[in-house]
Formats: sequence, C-alpha cells, structure tokens
Amino acid sequence: MDTHQSANLYTEALDYFPGGVNSPVRAFRSVFGQPLFIEKGDGCRIWDVDGNEFIDFCCSWGPLILGHNHPHVRENILTALEKGTSFGAPTKYGNDLAAMILKNHRFIEKIRFVSSGTEAVMSGVRLARGATNRKKVIKFEGCYHGHVDHLLVKAGSGLATFGVSSSAGVPDSFAQETIVIPLNDRAALAKAFEQHPDDIAAVIVEPIPANNGLLLQDRSFLECLRLKCHQNNSLLIFDEVISGFRVGFEGAAGYYDIQPDIITFGKIIGGGMPVGAYGASKEIMSHIAPDGPVYQAGTLSANPVAMAAGAAQLSICLQDGFYEQLENKTRSLVDRINQFAKQNDYPVQLFQMASIFWFAFSKAERIQAASEIEAEKMSFFKTFHKYLLENGVYVGPSGYEVCFVSQAHTEADLEQAGTVICNALKAVFE
Ligand SMILES: *Cc1c(COP(=O)(O)O)cnc(C)c1O
Repeated sequence: MDTHQSANLYTEALDYFPGGVNSPVRAFRSVFGQPLFIEKGDGCRIWDVDGNEFIDFCCSWGPLILGHNHPHVRENILTALEKGTSFGAPTKYGNDLAAMILKNHRFIEKIRFVSSGTEAVMSGVRLARGATNRKKVIKFEGCYHGHVDHLLVKAGSGLATFGVSSSAGVPDSFAQETIVIPLNDRAALAKAFEQHPDDIAAVIVEPIPANNGLLLQDRSFLECLRLKCHQNNSLLIFDEVISGFRVGFEGAAGYYDIQPDIITFGKIIGGGMPVGAYGASKEIMSHIAPDGPVYQAGTLSANPVAMAAGAAQLSICLQDGFYEQLENKTRSLVDRINQFAKQNDYPVQLFQMASIFWFAFSKAERIQAASEIEAEKMSFFKTFHKYLLENGVYVGPSGYEVCFVSQAHTEADLEQAGTVICNALKAVFE
C-alpha cells in the first residue's frame, strides 16, 4: 500500500502538534505504521490522501450513524450555513433539535446543548453536585467520560480505591473526589456508599461501556446502581455519549428501561458536527443558570449549523425500522465472523450490542470488567489491524476500541468486509 503522502503530512504534523495529532488515539502508537490522512468519505467508505479506499468501521468514533457525507445531512448543513455560522443568540435550529429529541425520548424533560461529549459530562457532573450539595462521584474502571479532570482517574488495586489521576496536570485533591470501582462489582459499590454515606453526589456510568472494549453489563447491575442511588439520595448519571441514539433513539435508558437522573450525549447528536448535550427532569434542570445557581455556558453552544446537522441525522434515525435494520445487518456480520473463528478454533470472538461490535482476543464467555481484558493479547490486534488496513478495512487503531456499523454499510459492503476480516484472522493465527 502506497502511503507516502500520508507519511509526508505526518512528518509535517509532527512539527505542529504534540505527537503529530490533535487527539492521542489517532497516533497509531499501539499498532503498526503511521496515521493515514483522510481525504474524503462517502457512505461507508473513506479515502486517504494517497487514494487508498477503505470500508470504514470507525465512523469518526461513533457519530456517523448514517455514514459519511449523507445527502440529507449535507443539505441541511448548507441551508443553515447560507444564513451565517454563529450568532451567540438563540436560533430556531436549537428549538427544532430539542423538540425532536424531547418528543421522542421518555427519559429527559429538558436539555442543554454544549459543544462536545467532554463538556456534556463536565456539566452533568457539576449539575449533580450543585443539585445535591455533595462532592464525591463514583465512576467505574474502564469507563471513559471524556477528558474531564476529576474523571481521568483509574482504580488502584482492591475495592473502592480513591482515585489516583491517570493524567499529569490533575491535582490529587481533584482526583480524591472521585471513587473508582470495578464494573459489575456490587460489593465495591455497597462499600463505597457505606464509607461516604452523605457525600456521594452521583454515580456516573457508561451503561453500555464501549471505550475499553465492549463490557456489556447485566441489566440487574444497572438496576442495582439505580436502587443504591435512590437509597442514598445520590443521582445516577448515564453517560450516553456513545450509546445515545445508537442502540435505539432512547439509548441505553430505553434499551434497559431504567430511568437515570441525568443523561449526557455527544457523538451522534451532532450529525458529525461538534455537539454535546445533557438532559434531565425539569426539576433537576432548574438548577442550571440562569434559572438556578449551577453556572454553565458556551460561546458556540447550540451552533445553528451543528444543530441543523444533528436534526437531519436524528430525523432519519426516527424512521420506522431504522435501528432494527442496523442491528440485523450487524448481527449477520458478527455471526459470520464468530462462526469462522469457532470452526477454526481461533482465540477471538466478537461481542455485539446493536450496531456496535468489538474484537475480543479471548475465549471467555463474557467480559464485563476492564481487568478481564488480557493486555498481552493486544499483540494479535496489531497484526490484525495491519492486515485489515492493507486490504481496505479501516478500524480504530487500538484493540480497546469498538467498531460501528452505519446505515450506509450495505449487505454487500459487509459481505466484502467480512471476507477481509476472516482472512485477517487466518493471517494472525496461522
Ligand atoms: C467520546 C466520549 C466522551 C467524550 O466526548 P468528546 O466529544 O470526545 O469530548 C465522553 N463519554 C463517552 C462515553 C464517550 O464515548
């Protein structure tokens, strides 16, 4: 594969950006080769600057549930664009997107738009603290909530460990307000509440954890979070930046039929433009400025061009059978690869939730906590990733990342990609 133009751009980028990139996971540090510079995308395909073509399962890390350059999204963006890009004043575009969401989502009554998933989580946690007048937040090992200071913490060993930041630049005093426990561990949860009976503002969880493999939880565990929060007057935050509008219009809240207190959104909500949001009941949202004392603002919040993109995308998600079709297509691909792996006794399998899937280099029946992922198996992913790229299939450059199927992936595209993936597994294991 000729990648010399990407290589030249990357060399130049190394002079401009730390590590040559504007977000670390783009840097190909855990796979072979160097980042490819993408020229364009259309449907389920992307092309790099050297003209190599790929079937894309990264889909910008999740936002592009309709695929690249969807005509309806593009047209809506252009219509909004013709009237200007930003006013710092309300526009009808914000109302329209909010109305579409609130009318079709039973789990929130009011929403506030921001410009990224990180901002949504940061604001949602501030709201929880402001509404409860408490400080501490429980999070789970392996759940990612954006690069919010006090949530960039991982667990030490043992139960209910106080956070030690996993990033320089985050004071210990911030991290100490975060309690990190393993997923799927009710004892650790109970212990954390016992140790801090009146100081847990919120429990934050990715109800469908998809940033460290796909660590599918039992519904009963999520119910247990709901119950514990009720019993302790703490708020339950579902971080649905990935799962929102992905596993169904109502996201994980709808899928599991569990009412969280606050939901955070990002990715799909913006149709490929920078949008995040958080929502809750009217009562909880009344704490937000200017109605209440919790301050939260944004120069480009509810940007009209971004709102137009989000509305165009979500209106298609609302069409009959949209999510069923997406899930069925994904299941066919996943089943085919899983059967192939099983027949050949390869130590790999795909876990799936709706149109999300993850390559687990393991034979374990379930993987529900970050510690159950065997780090040394990621060497398989490196070889696998290289083969896929060289044969026209693009997945995120880390074995901890999930893949996304979009509406634009046809049965024929998935058939083609499935063959490449099976051959890649053969190349890895034989
Ligand atoms: C991507 C993601 C975020 C951060 O969103 P950004 O738009 O990258 O800031 C937060 N939470 C979850 C669950 C995510 O997947």
